[in-house]
Amino acid sequence: MDNLPEFAPGSVWLAGAGPGDPGLLTLHAVNGIRQADVIVHDALVSHQILNVIDRKERLEYAGKRGGKPSPQQRDISLRLIELARRNKRVLRLKGGDPFVFGRGGEEALALAREDIPFRIIPGVTAGVGGLAYAGIPATHRSVNTVVSFITGHTLSGDHEGVDWAALSRGSPVLVFYMGLSRLATIRDNLIAAGREPDHPMALVSKAATPDQQVVITTLADCVDSAAKSGIGAPVIIAVGKVVDLQASLNWFDPRELGSGAPFGDDIQPVKPAGHD
Ligand code: SAH
Repeated sequence: MDNLPEFAPGSVWLAGAGPGDPGLLTLHAVNGIRQADVIVHDALVSHQILNVIDRKERLEYAGKRGGKPSPQQRDISLRLIELARRNKRVLRLKGGDPFVFGRGGEEALALAREDIPFRIIPGVTAGVGGLAYAGIPATHRSVNTVVSFITGHTLSGDHEGVDWAALSRGSPVLVFYMGLSRLATIRDNLIAAGREPDHPMALVSKAATPDQQVVITTLADCVDSAAKSGIGAPVIIAVGKVVDLQASLNWFDPRELGSGAPFGDDIQPVKPAGHD
């Protein structure tokens, strides 16, 4: 750890915490945790990770502040700026990778605009590492040369923002973030775009945590399977033949991470039927 950078007062490090297992924190993230004066985290940083952080009085939850029901992105950026201006070493800790559907770019831009020095610490994103904990490779030589990461957050009945035909034709493997409440939309559009109804699909809930649950299903059955299994957010969704490998590669025993709920109630949708 000797050659890792020193955390300068008045700067912000935007770090990914990975999907849940503390073992997936990078050395840079651990180095940031050791030196930080304040750690501003969100609901997707697992309790197992928060538990390995000492001096808990440094933790500040960015989910709900000032009695407001949901965080405004602007408030979080302003808070980071305010803490840096007070000469704190500010670690902004986010679930997964800060630059993958994590609004890390917006926070970094806000810091850049204010000339606040920052560092980006990538993390293991759920769409790669979360699937790996379920025994699903994002790519596999005989299956796909392309993989797409898609946010379900903005998907709506009218396919806003997504060219389903192009996706279905060009990307054998599709990984959806924030898609649990959009399963019917995903199913209908992919089947309409030519994917077989029995095309394999995996729903991985609370990946890389003691509560990890893997539901193997098909496009046609995914809504029913999700309902029957009772899985809850966060869920990462894989569509494609890499899912078939799960039967042979399912290596992870969630009990190795102990017990205890990995995420709080805050993980429930921030906006109705939206953010999961
Ligand atoms: N920056 C994060 C993504 C944030 S968007 C990353 O790189 O992973 C929130 C979505 O991420 C969730 O809806 C879910 O789809 C996915 N996600 C994050 N952590 C997860 C976990 N431990 N298990 C399953 N899905 C997860």
